Amino acid sequence: RSSDLQYRRVILKLSGESLAESGKRGISDTEMGVIARQIKQAHESGCQIAIVNGGGNILRGAQFSGANHSVQEATAHYMGMLATVINSLALQDALEHIGLSTRVMSALPVDKVAEKFIRRRAIRHLEKGRIVILSGGIGSPFVTTDTAAAQRALEVDADVILKATRVDGVYSDDPETNPHAVLYDQLSYQDVMSKKLRVMDATAIALCSEHRKPILVFNFKRDGNIAKAVRGETVGTWIGD
Ligand code: UDP
Repeated sequence: RSSDLQYRRVILKLSGESLAESGKRGISDTEMGVIARQIKQAHESGCQIAIVNGGGNILRGAQFSGANHSVQEATAHYMGMLATVINSLALQDALEHIGLSTRVMSALPVDKVAEKFIRRRAIRHLEKGRIVILSGGIGSPFVTTDTAAAQRALEVDADVILKATRVDGVYSDDPETNPHAVLYDQLSYQDVMSKKLRVMDATAIALCSEHRKPILVFNFKRDGNIAKAVRGETVGTWIGD
């Protein structure tokens, strides 16, 4: 784990929940403003930032798994991808409102509102100092935006995936229900897989492990943490070699 080493380029994985009030659905202008200011602060350190947006504040495809649903699960996953587009458009305006330059790119074609994801173009936007918001996941159903974060981190050669959560990192158990849960400082990919720790979905962890892409799981609710994370300061749980 490197310390105090500014990253050159990062993928910031923001769950849809980070745009909503705690325990609520939808998009909160206030919460989004808080996140936007944190992103601005992190960007001012000179780090290139690509955001992979989730959609769980609106809908997750897995809600429709199993029988007894009029909506097929595959359809629901596409609805989830559209939810990430909704979040990306909101976040784009919130970031531009405070003076940042942004582009939304989507893996799901929605060409009235977002560019399509083209790897080399995304890298060019980053080099020009634009915040790139990657929506639509990977554009295919039955995975989550964690997999998209891992996939895009490999494609744009990000130094690290910064996975923003509501808790301080990865715990031995759910800290919101078990007060004795222990916070890990550092974990190997193998630890995450064998202990079945809920960090990111299994596909995402497998991709990161195979390609040695580190993940930092940290608390976005603590002001200044995104900036600390891009500066390589010790926040959260480090997953890597
Ligand atoms: N999704 C998908 N393919 C992708 C990315 C996302 O089908 O490549 C769907 C999936 O149903 C997922 C939903 O979009 O549940 C919203 O994304 P996610 O659950 O990752 O959002 P988060 O938990 O980060 O808010």
